[in-house]
Amino acid sequence: MGRVRAYVGLGANIGDADDTLAAAVHTLAALPGVRLAGVSRLYATAPVGVTDQAEFRNAVVALDVPGGRDPDTGALALLIALKGLERAFGRREGPRWGPRALDLDLLVFGRHAIRAERPPEARSDDPARAAAQWLTVPHASARERLFVLAPLADLAPGLRPPGWDETVVTARARRVSIEGPAAVRPVARWDRVAGAWDPQDPGALAGDGSPVARDGSPPWH
Ligand code: ATP
Ligand code: CA
Ligand code: CA
Repeated sequence: MGRVRAYVGLGANIGDADDTLAAAVHTLAALPGVRLAGVSRLYATAPVGVTDQAEFRNAVVALDVPGGRDPDTGALALLIALKGLERAFGRREGPRWGPRALDLDLLVFGRHAIRAERPPEARSDDPARAAAQWLTVPHASARERLFVLAPLADLAPGLRPPGWDETVVTARARRVSIEGPAAVRPVARWDRVAGAWDPQDPGALAGDGSPVARDGSPPWH
């Protein structure tokens, strides 16, 4: 198979989350065979699930990655790389939805719907979490999470991931009406030249360079 456009969600809420996500973008871009195709704006988001913890930072990157011998193999190879990166950034096993140094979720892998068993090297060490040893793509919860949909819509508003009956931008509007526009706040955009977050006027430019609202408000206002 050739190359596949993948979207990866990044999240962090321990330590300097902005720096962690910037470093993660660089490290993802440097993975063998990977080309960085876009970076969303950086969002400040309220924690979901376990709400008694610090605010999160979230972003999404578009990556062109090797497709692998088949979609399952290609997506699992990317998941293994993501899990290795999480460990390298100091993530320890903890409660699901709990605080973490870096969370990397494989949101979309081309046009492929995948449900594959993870090989041992991509598994959790914790036997109590054996139920989580599957890879599901598109990510099972992405459609119901504004903190995923908002940055994903910066990069791929018209995308309709396999199995979805709506586009990313439509799903985002649906979640804004449920969660309220204050649930996710753009706080910076990616400066491609500097390779860093630029907190100036985060509403002015999406990470792919496309224009959005000039008043600093999210583009769905
Ligand atoms: P959530 O998956 O609801 O966002 P989480 O990110 O807190 O929760 P983790 O502890 O990071 O959960 O991951 C739990 C398991 O989810 C992982 O061990 C992984 O095998 C599995 N998983 C299934 N599908 C995916 C996917 N698309 N991307 C990343 N992990 C996935
Ligand atoms: Ca997650
Ligand atoms: Ca995860």
